[in-house]
Amino acid sequence: MPTPMERIVLAGRPQGSPTEADFRHEHTELRDPAEKEVAVETLYLSLDPYMRGRMDDAKSYAKPVDIGATMEGGTVGRVIATGSDRFAVGDLVVGQFGWATHGVLPANQVRKAATDYAPPSASLGVLGMPGFTGWYGLTELGRPKKGETLVVGAATGPVGQMVGQLGKALGMYVVGVAGGADKCRFAVEELGFDMCVDHRAQADTQAMRVALAEACPDGIDVYYENVGGKVLEAVMGLMNPFGRIPVCGMVAYYNLGGLGMGDAPGPNLLPRMWRTILVNKLNVHGFIIMDHWERYGDFLAEVGPMVKDGRIKYREDITEGLANAPAAFMAMLKGENFGKTVVQVAEDAA
Ligand code: NDP
Repeated sequence: MPTPMERIVLAGRPQGSPTEADFRHEHTELRDPAEKEVAVETLYLSLDPYMRGRMDDAKSYAKPVDIGATMEGGTVGRVIATGSDRFAVGDLVVGQFGWATHGVLPANQVRKAATDYAPPSASLGVLGMPGFTGWYGLTELGRPKKGETLVVGAATGPVGQMVGQLGKALGMYVVGVAGGADKCRFAVEELGFDMCVDHRAQADTQAMRVALAEACPDGIDVYYENVGGKVLEAVMGLMNPFGRIPVCGMVAYYNLGGLGMGDAPGPNLLPRMWRTILVNKLNVHGFIIMDHWERYGDFLAEVGPMVKDGRIKYREDITEGLANAPAAFMAMLKGENFGKTVVQVAEDAA
């Protein structure tokens, strides 16, 4: 008997912020895995800012999701049928199975969940793609040094949580930027950041700059870029000579869609930004974590034990039910998540 399954497909390309109408919930059937493939039942679905880019038909580092296709996404699930000897029925695995209750993928695109260190959902956050991104971007591209000042935006999301806590573990002075007093309190009191600036309380770039200058009396040596917008604009004038900027994301701009530079609203800051990079001899380094996946084992070996013994803490924001994924995704883009955004798609029967 075929296994019934549900999925969320892309119904339309958003103009600005996505709406419910851009998604469609469908019922279908799971196909059997072929040789060297595995079929899984999804337990948790990861919702990440990059998915907004996949909804646009614009040139990027990855292909857009086609209209009518399942929304792309990382999941943790249990293997329910296998055509590969790499995985057994019952294994907990991670893969890009998409916004769906079930899925089939080639076994070589699937890895075991990191359950030696933390519960399954953590393989999508602190020990998954976002945590790995924070580790790689800070340690490889940020070239952090003890005593230096590190600033990171989206500080209580899964990337920011990792970056700030690793910075503290390395002896840096760490300033987070987050939306709202609760998130800022969490960054300082729970994650151990030295300071946190609430960007929603700053009316404009100038106010943001004053707040950041107060929080960073010795200037900024490493700005881990997650957000863009007025945070980036304020940071640029505070960077120290030879500062490093790992460019990881720019969530403030994602709803601009595929606009070209000159089409973005507001004054053209490019000449001033470019000059700042030159005169301060800044190292600005964009990266996409998928190009560095061979380092995931190094990350897990280093950070897994830190998560297990509580040196690295993490917070998740879990929504129940696949049908609620679009709403949780749209909320995350607006900063209404508090921690790593995860959808619990099914209870783990095992
Ligand atoms: P989060 O879970 O932190 O979610 C995004 C957060 O961005 C929101 O919660 C909100 O937090 C913040 N935000 C939204 N709008 C704005 C704004 N206008 N100004 C400032 N902050 C804003 O996301 P992740 O930790 O998963 O990802 C963080 C960044 O890392 C993203 O840009 C993402 O695209 C990027 N990324 C890049 C990868 C790569 O390979 N280069 C891989 C993984 C992630 P708040 O309420 O605190 O403002």
